[in-house]
Amino acid sequence: MDYLQKAYCMNQTVRIYAAITTEMVTHVKDIFNMWPSSIDAFGRLLTISSIMSATYKANETLNIFVKGDGPIGKMTVEAKDCKVRGYVENPGVFLQNNDGSINITKAVGNGEIEIVKDLHLRAPFTSSSELISGDIANDFTYYFAKSEQIPSSVGLGVSIDPETNKILASGGFLIQVMPGCKDEYIEKLENKLKNLKPTTEMIKEGYTPIDIINEITDGDYVLLETKEIKYECNCSKERFKKGLKSLGKIELENILNEDKKVDITCNFCNKSYHFDENELKEIILELN
Ligand code: ZN
Repeated sequence: MDYLQKAYCMNQTVRIYAAITTEMVTHVKDIFNMWPSSIDAFGRLLTISSIMSATYKANETLNIFVKGDGPIGKMTVEAKDCKVRGYVENPGVFLQNNDGSINITKAVGNGEIEIVKDLHLRAPFTSSSELISGDIANDFTYYFAKSEQIPSSVGLGVSIDPETNKILASGGFLIQVMPGCKDEYIEKLENKLKNLKPTTEMIKEGYTPIDIINEITDGDYVLLETKEIKYECNCSKERFKKGLKSLGKIELENILNEDKKVDITCNFCNKSYHFDENELKEIILELN
């Protein structure tokens, strides 16, 4: 089971979230047949999205878009209460750096992060910031500072065996500095982060989220919460039926006459739904 843990540290003036998402990222890689650069970038995005959703109330929904001009194309994630789902434009990207390591910054490219928050106020609230590196972690650090005015630090990683395309580890953390945090605390954290092992190294060594928090805070933390992280799609045949109905009677009659069936695949989970001739006739009848 993937999960995140949330803690306070530095006299409750710093919030830390750490998450392990190896299972989720493996699952997503498998359903979309993703190649290394695509799953590396998307896995990082899914991880920070699940962490970010934990900073909001359980009924509040975040729609997160990373619109880069690299070969991966647009990445879309919906996150609510640590449940996430999403998809990328091109799951089949594999770029390598000169040393053979997986490249994601070129694969993501330049562009922007856009986040639409439905906090059940009058209208959804949209905020955005530019992609400053394409590695997702620095991009979100910049997003939090620029769009939410919260000094933050984001660490994210997905470790993939390039030979077998197996996900060896995935996870990350978010550190947020609250108003009133002393400069000496910030300095202490900055020094710690400079020498911190990569997140995926810690996870491969068997660290749990709280072990990562313990490492960052030198044991000086108060654990607040543990939450399961899950990739979850709520699609159903009933939902797609509603979508078909919205096409209208004339369009549906055209489909019925030409194809006698409809197959729809869900963008978020790749599940296919089939509507045969009789079902289409029924839907048309319901529209009368
Ligand atoms: Zn679905």
